[in-house]
Amino acid sequence: MARYVESVCKLCRREGIKLFLKGERCLSEKCAIDRRNYAPGEHGQRRSKPTDYGLQLREKQKTRRIYGVLERQFRGYYHKAAHQHGITGANLLVLLERRLDNIVYRMGFANSRSEARQLVNHGHFLVTGRQVDIASYLVKAGDTVQVRDKSKKIPGILSAIQNTKTRGFPAWLSSEIDKLKGVVTSIPTREEIELPIQEQLIVELYSK
Ligand code: SF4
Repeated sequence: MARYVESVCKLCRREGIKLFLKGERCLSEKCAIDRRNYAPGEHGQRRSKPTDYGLQLREKQKTRRIYGVLERQFRGYYHKAAHQHGITGANLLVLLERRLDNIVYRMGFANSRSEARQLVNHGHFLVTGRQVDIASYLVKAGDTVQVRDKSKKIPGILSAIQNTKTRGFPAWLSSEIDKLKGVVTSIPTREEIELPIQEQLIVELYSK
């Protein structure tokens, strides 16, 4: 699978907001957005009025980068969302939130979604008692997600747990953080996904 190999902080600078891609560093004074909040590159500090297309494109890229999803897969989520009942933009975000790597991050077992993805790929989690090593696996309401017994001493998980005790987790998840497990009590509504995303711009982009 293709991977982004440059500094991920450039992605935050391009989008002009913190995407929280680097775990603890994002909360420290070393965060690149706090130090240089302008787009990377020679012309990064130039300001020009974006076109409608430019705004739609940036919103799509920002969302894709928050969840760490490549273009083709992201488009697949869009098509799936468009075929579901309800509002396509909201459906899209709910699908992205249901990804197992996102749930592991939200439950506090990883400091970032990319760390969570790696932990999932290495088979450190059980979903309702069954080992799942697919980061894009879509969890359902009622699913339990827990760290496997043999993975309970992994330093990355233990350090993330310490940070989560101050960070907290969303109301649609219940997490027994000390037992290294949590439950997806419900599928989130759009209102419960507290991310600065204007999803209607993504829908406009893809419906052209
Ligand atoms: Fe983004 Fe985190 Fe880098 Fe800050 S430290 S620019 S939030 S990835």
